[in-house]
Amino acid sequence: MKSLEGKIAVITGGNSGIGKATAKLFAQEGAQVIITGRRPDVVDAAAKEIGNGAIGVCGDVAILEFHQRFAEDVNKWFGGLDIYVANAGVINLEASKNVSEAEYDNHFAVNTRGVFFGVQAIAPLIRDGGNIIVTSSLAATKFLPHHTVYAGSKAALAAFARNWVIEFKERRIRVNILSPGPVETEILGKLGIGEADRPGFESHMANLIPAGRMGRPEELAEAALFLASKGAFVNGVELIVDGGMSLA
Ligand code: NAP
Repeated sequence: MKSLEGKIAVITGGNSGIGKATAKLFAQEGAQVIITGRRPDVVDAAAKEIGNGAIGVCGDVAILEFHQRFAEDVNKWFGGLDIYVANAGVINLEASKNVSEAEYDNHFAVNTRGVFFGVQAIAPLIRDGGNIIVTSSLAATKFLPHHTVYAGSKAALAAFARNWVIEFKERRIRVNILSPGPVETEILGKLGIGEADRPGFESHMANLIPAGRMGRPEELAEAALFLASKGAFVNGVELIVDGGMSLA
């Protein structure tokens, strides 16, 4: 039997990168997947690619009403869910002295508020014994140049998760953090690094990683699958998947 047969899984930011790879693997493992993202064409195409009846829903995680409406829809369609992966995120690298108020607010609106209010809206629908996976980042615990605001917006997630483990314990809902190191996804194109500088950036990153290369979205998906299925006694941990970069 497939490891997620009969499960309903929601993945925010499931139309791209780590979220899409996770959605595909969960669908292969038998889950009914619902993905969210902002770009309608990309959400639709991703839902088709994911297969197994995957549903795509458009909305902005920074907007509270989106989470409320989305939770109502999930309730109407399936009467609940088993796995919530709070994965949508943004990054823009900047030295602290250059960070604008708007950039600061955007990081916290998407990466921090978006996760908090997403879980607040969906948690009542998570079935007993279900689980939540929150995508943070290696940057939350390790210095990386120009990551300060992004790191701060992700660091709050570990505190949220620790509290949720206790808040949801009567319902046996597990909450874990997945923290990737550098992974080859679309997000690299959103770092504010010009196309010409990309190869240099990527080889610089690879040199910093003991594994000798950046991660692949599918490798993060495998880690998410472990947390969602086999890791039934894993609760309240931060799983860093970074090829050893945290030690470098
Ligand atoms: P990605 O390919 O750029 O995916 C980001 C996803 O988030 C997209 O699906 C995007 O969809 C969605 N998103 C962004 N802003 C949103 C908003 N306001 N509302 C709704 N959805 C939004 O990047 P990724 O690398 O897979 O990143 C996934 C997660 O991993 C993020 O939380 C990121 O911080 C984290 N992470 C990534 C790396 C890495 O090196 N790749 C390292 C550490 C942590 P739309 O654009 O359609 O909205």
